[in-house]
Amino acid sequence: MKYYSTNGKAPLASLQKAVVKGLAEDRGLYMPERIQRLPEAFFRADGSFVELSTRVANAFFGEDVPAADLQRIVAETLSFDCPLHQVEPGIYALELFHGPTLAFKDVGARFMARLLQHFNDGKGPVNVLVATSGDTGSAVANGFLGVDGIRVFVLYPKGKVSPIQECQFTTLGQNITALEIDGTFDDCQALVKAAFMDAELNEALRLTSANSINVARFLPQAFYYFWAYAQLQRLGLADNVVCCVPSGNFGNICAALFGKRMGLPVKRFIAANNANSVFYEFLQTGSYRPRPSVQTIANAMDVGDPSNFARIWDLYGRSPEAIRADISGATYSDAQIEETIRDCYARTGYLLDPHGACGYRALKESPQPGEVGFFCETAHPAKFKDTVERIIGAPVAIPERLAAFMQGEKRSIPLGKDFEGFKQFLLG
Ligand SMILES: *Cc1c(COP(=O)(O)O)cnc(C)c1O
Repeated sequence: MKYYSTNGKAPLASLQKAVVKGLAEDRGLYMPERIQRLPEAFFRADGSFVELSTRVANAFFGEDVPAADLQRIVAETLSFDCPLHQVEPGIYALELFHGPTLAFKDVGARFMARLLQHFNDGKGPVNVLVATSGDTGSAVANGFLGVDGIRVFVLYPKGKVSPIQECQFTTLGQNITALEIDGTFDDCQALVKAAFMDAELNEALRLTSANSINVARFLPQAFYYFWAYAQLQRLGLADNVVCCVPSGNFGNICAALFGKRMGLPVKRFIAANNANSVFYEFLQTGSYRPRPSVQTIANAMDVGDPSNFARIWDLYGRSPEAIRADISGATYSDAQIEETIRDCYARTGYLLDPHGACGYRALKESPQPGEVGFFCETAHPAKFKDTVERIIGAPVAIPERLAAFMQGEKRSIPLGKDFEGFKQFLLG
């Protein structure tokens, strides 16, 4: 299958090129030329998370990756479950936080690492550069950990990520190198961008990026939605399903919308935002006006120009009406997020994280008769321990997996924010 650019000014690319390059030459995002509809029988079939996901992966990547390899890649990626948890009647949390770093980006990162390894032609290691303000670095570092032929450099701003986040990418060793940059997140991102533009560096090293614009990172997230549907169906609740996704860069919900194109019987979608409400406003006005992000307590959704908007825009033929027919929006202030966490915990005993709280609230505020809804609980509340403890006024236990990271020895290399120093480091 070929991949085209959402900007329409780059040549069609193979899957291999789309995965290795990430972004098209015209700076557009790659889209698959066709989206295969799954037969109705698929939605009635029994099967495990891995079995259903292998079928979905096959629809996307089956022409380009041999079936046995794809099956292994999916099985290795999904070494943990994504269970549905009933929070209250008619509202389910799809818990996407049971992977190594306790947030949903694990699946995309693990899948991408294995697909990149599959496509590596053996001409020396592939170097993955990733700038992080916290969550992406841990998912990518853990997803790529121990994968042969790939080296990962995580650039993070010194003193500006939480201790829990920091230990998730500085204690791993092996093929993961953490670079502690004396600067801000924007400085880290600028260093990575400059590296991709530097001719000498690209001559000497094979560089790639692992952010959510990569097709290999966002498409596998569709697995979640087929699995949620299968679980609801086993409960006899699959007739009028509403799916709500807390959204930042819109990669996760975009994968869900691809699922719908493949025939997934979800009635409607909700994109839940924090105070960064560019998409919400787009739904109201029909015009897309990106702007700088504002900081919130749901910080993995602090995005002012969601990169996957380009994919949604393309998928719906650039029609705001068509988008509105499938997706509604919601936006919540920090105060509303706090109120939601407190209220849900007091009434149901279920502890939300600040991102999932936006999803829960958006679902709860828009019920229609006969609907059953699920929202993605995108991170474990312990990842935001200080915030959540302050909100509920009680201690939050740290899961063993997370505690284990905190026991490891922190190793990182301090670097300044000047490009020359970073470049010499990579070359040496
Ligand atoms: C990345 C992230 C999101 C936002 O997902 P997008 O695919 O960028 O929309 C939501 N919640 C958590 C916890 C995240 O880490």
